Amino acid sequence: MKKKGKLVVISGPSGAGKSTVVFKALGERDDVCFSISATTRKPRPNEVDGREYFFVDLERFQEMIDNNELLEHAEYVANRYGTPRAYVEQKIAEGMNVILDIEVQGARQVYEKMPEAIMIFVVPPSIDELRNRLEKRGTDTPRAIEARLIRARQEYAEATFYDYIIVNDDADTAADELSAIITAEHCVAADRMEYLKDTD
Ligand code: 5GP
Repeated sequence: MKKKGKLVVISGPSGAGKSTVVFKALGERDDVCFSISATTRKPRPNEVDGREYFFVDLERFQEMIDNNELLEHAEYVANRYGTPRAYVEQKIAEGMNVILDIEVQGARQVYEKMPEAIMIFVVPPSIDELRNRLEKRGTDTPRAIEARLIRARQEYAEATFYDYIIVNDDADTAADELSAIITAEHCVAADRMEYLKDTD
């Protein structure tokens, strides 16, 4: 029987380098894929519909909720985000490990509905380093940076239900850790009990 894939939920503050880590791991493994979320946020200049997100209006987003098309959804700085259920279910059934890059409230919904999901929180080495990275990135005003740091502290306080914490000091090492976690999760004894059965 084909093994089912795992659902891998990744959260962490903006500036932790989550997407770099995720895309490195995706480039290195062919058993991992990424779930593209739906959002009501407007696309940024370099973003393409169907690549970073499915960009939808509020009405369509509400319709997705009403039709139970979303596995989870949450509001984050006045925009709505949600994970389309069908893609996740199909890929897991095909044996693919599906990565969700979602914030903490949505992650908690997944954790409650699917306790078998692998919950990973990605952090920078320190809050000071987070501040440095946000300043270097140069896309936020000093006020917006302070708001992101406050939000990061809130997320840390809420992040009590994750199974793993990856400290993203070096992106290659962090991507290796992500890959190692997925590999190890496929070796858990509970998933391999059939090998202990005497089938002669
Ligand atoms: P951004 O607007 O910067 O792309 O994303 C803002 C936040 O929304 C990030 O923390 C990201 O992880 C989160 N996010 C993206 N897609 C989803 C989703 O489908 N569900 C939830 N709950 N959060 C999401």
